[in-house]
Amino acid sequence: MKVRFGPDGAHLFDRWSGMNLLLDEVEVPERAWSAAPRQVSIALTNACDLACTYCYAPKHRAVLGVESLLGWVRELDLAGALGVGFGGGEPTLYRHLPDVCEYMAENTNLAVTMTTHGLRWNAALTSRLSGVVHFVRVSVDGTTNTYERLRGRSFERLRDSLRLIAADFRWGINTVINEETIKDLDGIASLASEYGAAELLLLPQQPTKTAGGVQQATLRELESWVRRYSGPVPLATSENAEIGAPLARALQHEVGLRSYAHIDATGTVRRSSYAERGVPVDEDGVMAALARLERMGA
Ligand code: SF4
Repeated sequence: MKVRFGPDGAHLFDRWSGMNLLLDEVEVPERAWSAAPRQVSIALTNACDLACTYCYAPKHRAVLGVESLLGWVRELDLAGALGVGFGGGEPTLYRHLPDVCEYMAENTNLAVTMTTHGLRWNAALTSRLSGVVHFVRVSVDGTTNTYERLRGRSFERLRDSLRLIAADFRWGINTVINEETIKDLDGIASLASEYGAAELLLLPQQPTKTAGGVQQATLRELESWVRRYSGPVPLATSENAEIGAPLARALQHEVGLRSYAHIDATGTVRRSSYAERGVPVDEDGVMAALARLERMGA
């Protein structure tokens, strides 16, 4: 288990089971708090083979260099981060992905997770990533016709991927909530249950340059769906999402850059993937860039 210290106490985390244990009776002096964010998402590439209209990933070409990336994850691990989540674009289009995940599983104590559309997973990729990726998040924003309209790919192909992923990984579904997807939530929850997902993550749509955010009426529908929900798959949402339902917040004082940071595919660190301002990670490394970002208050 990895131990992390912070304003809420001593936090123990097991990357294989996903178990979190918070010893909140332990008062940790500020000088001993872990310096790295608890979780860092890293966009490996902006490339994607789909074209979802609500996509927030930047569309210019960018891809991370593998040597820089390995240096950053080593630094984050030593500074107390618990996990790194790879995304994009589509992370399976990053040609070094299996090597990076293997390196991290063997040389760091970080949980390696990724968010993927799932459609490129096959037996060869699964066998490279099995045993070195701790959790896979598959983006599913609808079932049958809705899925096919939004993603432009066959829903049966998605089912094949889920079967493959569920056989070898702890996994969950990510669902962007908007006016089109809200009506498919029952079907998505059934899909998650059918393939044994460990989590259904509900992400109200954020405004981007090309699409607006989720409407208030849809958020109210979401709240009432969450309150009615009684399925076996645990629900989760992002830290700042306002879904109206009561949320368990165990780490109430570990906020801002102590909690989360995002590195985009150009190597710029930001408070979130939506944040306008960021700091390029240079030869001084990722922790120095995070310190500059904190000083900027950006
Ligand atoms: S699969 Fe993800 S990264 Fe690709 S276009 Fe859709 S939302 Fe964007």
